[in-house]
Amino acid sequence: MRYILLLGPPGCGKGTQVELLKKEGFKVLITGDILRNEIEKNSLLGERIKRIVNKGELVPDDLIVELMETIIKEDTSSDKDIIIDGYPRTVGQVEGFLKNHSDEKIIAVYLKVDKDILKKRLTGRRVCPVCKRVYHIEYNPPKNDMKCDVCNEPLIIRKDDEPEVIENRLSVYDKQTQPIVELFENKGLLRVIDAQRTISEIFTDIKEILM
Ligand code: AMP
Repeated sequence: MRYILLLGPPGCGKGTQVELLKKEGFKVLITGDILRNEIEKNSLLGERIKRIVNKGELVPDDLIVELMETIIKEDTSSDKDIIIDGYPRTVGQVEGFLKNHSDEKIIAVYLKVDKDILKKRLTGRRVCPVCKRVYHIEYNPPKNDMKCDVCNEPLIIRKDDEPEVIENRLSVYDKQTQPIVELFENKGLLRVIDAQRTISEIFTDIKEILM
């Protein structure tokens, strides 16, 4: 059993790849969705998380590490690899993660994309409010009329995909998340994928790593 950590800036296509992996039966944990579920519970914790996420900031490390490690523990009952999107996302979170899991079990997969392309991808992103499937108005549109292919719900723009918030998320990424790419590289655990190609080419590369 291995942990496949998907790394990359907002808009690098992690969400799209994770959906495809899920469809093929891979086990995936999506940190953003776990947080959005917590927000929907309207709990005190959810309220606190909502204020942070809506600004494009990162939820504090201690809270994320505790939340994610609890979920990972619940999930390690089988021998299946676990693909994780969005955690760890800071040097502090990597430290928390490495305390709980040994290096031999970790593969960090970095989806590399230039910044100008990221902005274009993020501003065109739409999601289904019900099943959370991710679309793009240009690169991956729904089959009809901006409605979800599965739920037929009108797609929405996520609050954190609004233009000012996108700018903030990209700058938070540069400061807090990009350093972890180097950290995994120095440990010899990093695989880099050119994520400026088609969705299916990137998917093929990820699956090759998972073989
Ligand atoms: P995502 O859907 O992965 O872009 O995540 C949406 C938002 O959830 C981010 O902009 C952060 O506010 C928050 N978030 C997701 N993952 C983490 C994490 N590992 N640490 C802190 N905040 C996170």
